[in-house]
Amino acid sequence: MVSHPAYPEVLLHIDGSWCKAASGKTLAVVNPALGDAIGSVAHAERPDLDRALEAARKGFGVWRKTAAFDRYRLMRKAAELMRARAESIAPLLTMEQGKPVAEAKQEALAAADIIDWFAEEARRTYGRVIPARAPGVYQLVVKEPVGPVAAFTPWNFPINQVVRKLCAAVASGCSIIVKGPEETPASPAELVRAFVDAGMPPGVVNLVYGVPAEISSYLIAHPAIRKISFTGSTVVGKQLAALAGSHMKRVTMELGGHGAVLVFDDADIDAASRMLAAAKYRNAGQVCVSPTRFLVQEKVFDDFVDKFVAAAGKVKVGDGLEQGTTMGPLANTRRVKAIESFVDDALKAGAERKMGGSRIGEKGNFFEPTVLTRVPTQARAMNEEPFGPLAMLNPFRDFDEAVTEANRLPYGLAAYAFTRSAKTATAVANEVETGMMTINHFGLALPEVPFGGVKDSGYGTEGGADALEAYLVSKFVTQTGV
Ligand code: NAD
Repeated sequence: MVSHPAYPEVLLHIDGSWCKAASGKTLAVVNPALGDAIGSVAHAERPDLDRALEAARKGFGVWRKTAAFDRYRLMRKAAELMRARAESIAPLLTMEQGKPVAEAKQEALAAADIIDWFAEEARRTYGRVIPARAPGVYQLVVKEPVGPVAAFTPWNFPINQVVRKLCAAVASGCSIIVKGPEETPASPAELVRAFVDAGMPPGVVNLVYGVPAEISSYLIAHPAIRKISFTGSTVVGKQLAALAGSHMKRVTMELGGHGAVLVFDDADIDAASRMLAAAKYRNAGQVCVSPTRFLVQEKVFDDFVDKFVAAAGKVKVGDGLEQGTTMGPLANTRRVKAIESFVDDALKAGAERKMGGSRIGEKGNFFEPTVLTRVPTQARAMNEEPFGPLAMLNPFRDFDEAVTEANRLPYGLAAYAFTRSAKTATAVANEVETGMMTINHFGLALPEVPFGGVKDSGYGTEGGADALEAYLVSKFVTQTGV
């Protein structure tokens, strides 16, 4: 019997205080392993958003004048608090989102590493001096924070999706209003708490929850907001980018993907199948960089399928708080319906079912790790992001055929390749249209490396030194002596 700790009543954080919504309204939070409501989150409306906007405006005035060194020190303190609290935050994340508690703890610890990285970058927002055409003229490029930020984050990595936006903003000297994920609100609130407890001045970091479309349309259009960052589906991302464009707001968009995996016949098939099965079923496949279309060269196709299915068969599905669970439930009932429909459609189109394909039980959102092979290109799952525990394995003849299939979709977030040939590895890195390419291992999402996509997967990066640029303005100052 799994014991579930108490789940908090999650509040908004506005102008330095934790508060209920002005209306007193709340939204229910459901544990996806049980299917039962476990708590509630405050539901912000216009009056709460107006307070948050005023707080962010005021907070920006204070924070932009705070020395980079002091921003760094405060962020390092927040990172230490996250590390110290990871053990107690993890069960909250598991109860609201479903992932195994070890992965939840890892997410909280990874957040601490991300905060540290951005804290250090805060001290390196260097400008430059441009040589002048005349003596006595000084031409300076000064990096200034862009202004108050509105960030919108999803439920699949409730802490991790917030921490990159929040850190890039506060490291640059911006204030921020985060619209957190209503379905998984407690763990991102704990992230914000780490910053608050580290001594963040009121108004710099604000957290709201509510109806996503109502909040985004109000905040994006509001003159106080100067920068938008969104992680979620491509469909919604395009709507928000269009709205931001009509108000001349800067945008970072981290959207959907449809990860192509190219396994060549000279690859280490044992290692590739093991690594790929672990990556596919992590967080039940609800990962924007999840490997999805497995393209395997003909000669090794059957061997790869057998080994992948054997590795997938070892995945243990259960409540994320139960010891030994390696894959939790899907985060919400929408995903269960979506995966059922993707599988039915693919089978009707002629795919072969090697493993899984069905919901497990009636209670909770559990779904079998699923493997389909020889999935026709017209199947919906070959074109739309499945965002669930569904692997599709198809054979290819040669390099050109594999690259053409990898580049067929409008997505371009993450891609994977396995080969022992340096020539093939270099060619695949050059030819695949993707924001991130990882070859013979999994090396994505570290704080110090870029994280972002091309094509319909969005623009901008949320990792590495480039991430701060999106929150900075290059102001030009030219000056002579009087
Ligand atoms: P959805 O498209 O309704 O929502 C996705 C996210 O966007 C959620 O966090 C939601 O709160 C937010 N959102 C939706 N409409 C919004 C709006 N008008 N303004 C601001 N935020 C808004 O669908 P969903 O059922 O929650 O998720 C399904 C799809 O979303 C998945 O298939 C996947 O493609 C995508 N998704 C991507 C990521 C990612 O990491 N890139 C994360 C979660 C979901």
